[in-house]
Amino acid sequence: MPLSRREFLIGAAGAAAVAACSGDDDGAARTTTTAGRTTTAPPTPPLSGPPFALGVASGDPDAGSVVLWTRLAPAPTAGGGMPDEDVPVVWEVATDDAFEAMVASDVVTAQPRYGHSVHVTVDGLESGIEYRYRFRVGEYTSPLGRARTAPKGDVGLLHFAFGSCQNWEDGFWPAHGHLAEEDVDLVVWLGDYIYEGAASASGVRQHDGPEPTTLEAYRNRYGLYKGDPSLQAAHAACPWLAIWDDHEVDNNYAGDSSEDGSAADIFLARRAAAYQAWWEHMPVRLDPPQGPALEINRLLRWGDLLSFFAIDTRQYRADQPCDRDADLGEGCPERDDPARTMLGDEQEKWLADQMRNSTATWNVLANQVIFSPSPVPVGSTTFFNLDQWDGYPTARARALDILAGTANPVIITGDIHASAVADVRRGDDIVAVEFVGTSISSSFPAQFVDLFEAAAETTGARMADAQHRGYVRCTVTPDSFLAEYRVVESVTAPTSPVSTSSSWVVQAGRPGVREA
Ligand code: FE
Ligand code: CA
Repeated sequence: MPLSRREFLIGAAGAAAVAACSGDDDGAARTTTTAGRTTTAPPTPPLSGPPFALGVASGDPDAGSVVLWTRLAPAPTAGGGMPDEDVPVVWEVATDDAFEAMVASDVVTAQPRYGHSVHVTVDGLESGIEYRYRFRVGEYTSPLGRARTAPKGDVGLLHFAFGSCQNWEDGFWPAHGHLAEEDVDLVVWLGDYIYEGAASASGVRQHDGPEPTTLEAYRNRYGLYKGDPSLQAAHAACPWLAIWDDHEVDNNYAGDSSEDGSAADIFLARRAAAYQAWWEHMPVRLDPPQGPALEINRLLRWGDLLSFFAIDTRQYRADQPCDRDADLGEGCPERDDPARTMLGDEQEKWLADQMRNSTATWNVLANQVIFSPSPVPVGSTTFFNLDQWDGYPTARARALDILAGTANPVIITGDIHASAVADVRRGDDIVAVEFVGTSISSSFPAQFVDLFEAAAETTGARMADAQHRGYVRCTVTPDSFLAEYRVVESVTAPTSPVSTSSSWVVQAGRPGVREA
């Protein structure tokens, strides 16, 4: 009888616990003996405790390879707790839960300078296949994860989900627990994986220190977040495609401009620390950052069915216009300056080239902040959220031209902690559909709920809901793109029932979205 995913994950956690308890970690060499390959684990230095406290993850699959991730950290919120030396880590990939059908295995070095994180690109794999993977260090074996390669050629079906915004202090993550059981092929993460805020006295649960600005402090913040078992389960269930938004560094930052207006060189040193910590903790197919620069925009193909265009709307953008770093503000002439950029010239050109050359049936822009015009009328004044594409209307017009030149464009968006569905127009023509997903846990300010929902209605959004937390599950075929809004009842406890609040469908070759 095949195990359900839930049984599988529970079994994996149990196996890891057994391994952790039995570990005497004497540093002796160990040998894996399986029906497939054999990998000898080199001696390891003594560890202060079980090193796999942050779980495992996979990501950025293509048709022949996938990235496997873990980070050795017996003390994840206190500097990691690892000795200041290289540590060999065995990784194993198999097609069965018992690792009897091993297909690949080798040793990778976890280095202190990268927080003892490892990113293994396993290639030579078959396309469109689910694999099991795990890591071993000394006596310790990691939880098991499920990875998957992308299919190639004709593909009849893709299940994926997208999510964003998991402020630890605002709540627990029952959404991740449900996400782990959705049986999707891929999770797309649209940013705000951590929040940089200092510990507050209120909140459902508390951050454990001041606002991070150093690499060590950002690592500890990731250590706190990634210790959550629901998040670990969601990572272990399938590969992720992860991009960042602002809170991985600093609220509403733009390029080299921080929220509080610190000098550019000081902020860029902070950005370098934050980018490195992000890279260390994400299962990404990227080289480590060079100082404050890390190019994360990338293309992920799911055969001929769908291509994801993952973009970065933080690193290269012009500062928010009209002297505003806060979200809502009135417009001003600067807002309409055609020189203002959201993507930066190089990324904008990359997006144009990639979208123009795409042969996929569906072309999905994995995007951080709301794309659709969303003016907020307050009395006789119109406000804009100047941190969103509404602060960059000339850049948006250029992006709209790019989207209009590709087949069946769909925008998936995070950031706002609310759900919305809208047709995206250029003039009178519908050229794309935008699905805005709500947050995993981050709050939407109660005093703005009515305003958000009313503004969405006046702009012609098909749906707007600022009151629920959750994620969006998508089912894609060559004919249709179905988006189901999955919402949890509450985030005040680790578990909470999930339900579908509404479902929306786009038909290939036909403009616009309708309720399913
Ligand atoms: Fe957020
Ligand atoms: Ca954000």
